[in-house]
Order: sequence, then structure tokens, then C-alpha cells
Amino acid sequence: MLPENLEWEFPSSAEKAAQLIRRPGTVLHGGGTRILKTCPATVKRLVDTGALGLNYINFIDNSHYIGSGATFSDIVKYSKAGGRLTLLGEALSQAASTPLRNRITLGGSLKDFPIWSSLYAPLIALKARVEILRKKPEIYTLEEYVTSGIIKTRHLIKHVIIDEEANLVSGVKKFSVLRFEYPLFTVAAGLNVKGGIIEDARLVITGVRGRFKRFLKAEKMLIGHALNDMPVESIIKQIAPGFTKDYRFSAGYKDHAARICFMDLLNELKEVQNENSI
Ligand SMILES: Cc1cc2nc3c(=O)[nH]c(=O)nc-3n(C[C@H](O)[C@H](O)[C@H](O)COP(=O)(O)OP(=O)(O)OC[C@H]3O[C@@H](n4cnc5c(N)ncnc54)[C@H](O)[C@@H]3O)c2cc1C
Repeated sequence: MLPENLEWEFPSSAEKAAQLIRRPGTVLHGGGTRILKTCPATVKRLVDTGALGLNYINFIDNSHYIGSGATFSDIVKYSKAGGRLTLLGEALSQAASTPLRNRITLGGSLKDFPIWSSLYAPLIALKARVEILRKKPEIYTLEEYVTSGIIKTRHLIKHVIIDEEANLVSGVKKFSVLRFEYPLFTVAAGLNVKGGIIEDARLVITGVRGRFKRFLKAEKMLIGHALNDMPVESIIKQIAPGFTKDYRFSAGYKDHAARICFMDLLNELKEVQNENSI
């Protein structure tokens, strides 16, 4: 429930919005899907991001710029229309429900980072950077943004930047008990493959202790291998997600389920090369 007598502001520039949220008791309102559920009584003012002109998705100099006002649906449509950012498009098409995807914004989702996030694992696997506005614009990798604690500061997210990778082989899997339930975790892989050989690898999981984890040892093991000959079983032995238990599942069960998700994902990605070579 929203507190009573909330004030609303509707600024028309990102700079003005960034300035307004410096006042105590003031927060940004993107899609409102989280704020409606959890808005604490200490919040006195909401600054709506709808008129900031940040709902763009542009492709400039081989990079995608996704404005923080873009909704999950906008991103899915962009991905499907151009066959681009397929990893992100696939992940977000599985998130929540159609009405919610029409409201949830990229900015609100990045700042919120719920454990069931459908956004972070693919974005980290895509080496996304985020541009934020505090007193001036600043750009960070998404990993820096989370691990250095910038995520907890008062700022406006302007957009994310994703460089197009010509040789990307990628995939994502969410784990939920029922299709429409919040994912318990999401795993994503981004492999850069040239001439059938893996040159760069990112394996990411969200929903774990510490919000997200990359598996650097496993990634290193993938480099130099032929895609269709990845030693999946040895790689999976390096996957130690580190979950906490919840009211339904033990940490060990979720660790095990995550390893299986990674195993299925890597085995599916192996097939990409086999299909291409037919
Ligand atoms: C039933 C349900 C199911 C869901 N399922 C999924 C799912 O499967 N996968 C998934 O990823 N998400 C899911 N979500 C969405 C998720 O839980 C959050 O509600 C959502 O990510 C918040 O986005 P929003 O745009 O609505 O943000 P808001 O609620 O508007 O804001 C959230 C936070 O972000 C801040 N904020 C907003 N915009 C900006 C900005 N531009 N810059 C900086 N800070 C900003 C706000 O001040 C607030 O602190 C679900 C939500 C619901 C209600």
C-alpha cells in the first residue's frame, strides 16, 4: 500500500529528476510494480520517470542503447523484430505476465534487483554497461554497479549499453516450480565463438547469496575449446552457486538444480554448432 498524501512530481528532463531525488523521502517511480508493493512510510514523494524521454532503444556505432524507461515488452519486441539481443529478449519474454511486462521498466528493474530478476543474468552475460546520472553522468559495468554498492546510492539510471558481438552463442534458463511463478534463479551463458572455437565465456547465475555469481574457473576452462566438444561434465564440477535455503528448498537442492540447468544449457549450445554445420 502506498502511504497517504504522497506527492508526485513529473519532471521532463533526466537532469531535473536526478536533482529531485536528492531530497530525503523522495524516490523514482518507473513501472511502479515494486513501489506499489513495498513503498515504506518514509517515502513522501514519487518522481515519475514517464516524461523523461528514456523509453528509447537505439542501435548506434555497433552498440544497443536501451533507455531506462523501456519496458520488458519494448525490449522483447525490439529483439524479435530485428533478431537482435536474442539472449535478453528470450529471458524477458519469460518474465512475469504480459500486463506486468508492459509496465516493468529496465531502470526500475536494475535498481530493484529482486532475487527473481530475469534481467541481470543475461545482461551480465552480454557484458552490459550502465550509465547513471548523479551530479554528472557515470558509466559502470553492471558487475561494478552491483558489487561496489553504487546500486544503493541515489541516482537515476539513464540507459544500458550493450555492444553487438558478431560471434555470440548464448542461452538462458530460469528455474521456477510453476511457469508463472517468480524464478528461484536464472542462469545465462554468453560464449564468443570464432571458427568453432570459444574465445571468451561468461557464465552467470542470479538468485544466489551476494545477488549474482560468475564462474570464472569454468569460464576459463571453456576458452580454447571447440563449441561442439565442450567438456561439459568437468565444467559443471566448477559450478558452486552458493544458495541460501528458503521455506521450500534446501541450499543443496538449489545448487544441484542450478548445475543441471547449466549442464542442459551448455549441451544445447553445443548443438548450435552441430546444427550450423549440417
Ligand atoms: C507478480 C510479479 C511478478 C514478477 N515477476 C518477475 C519476473 O519473473 N522477473 C523479473 O525480472 N521481474 C519480475 N517482476 C518485477 C520485479 O519484481 C519488480 O517489480 C520490477 O523489477 C520493478 O520495476 P519497475 O519498473 O516497476 O520499478 P518501480 O517499482 O517503479 O521501482 C523500483 C525501484 O527502482 C527505482 N527506480 C525506478 N526507475 C528508476 C530509474 N530510471 N533509475 C534509478 N532508479 C529507478 C525506484 O525508485 C524503486 O526504488 C514481477 C513483479 C510482480 C509484481
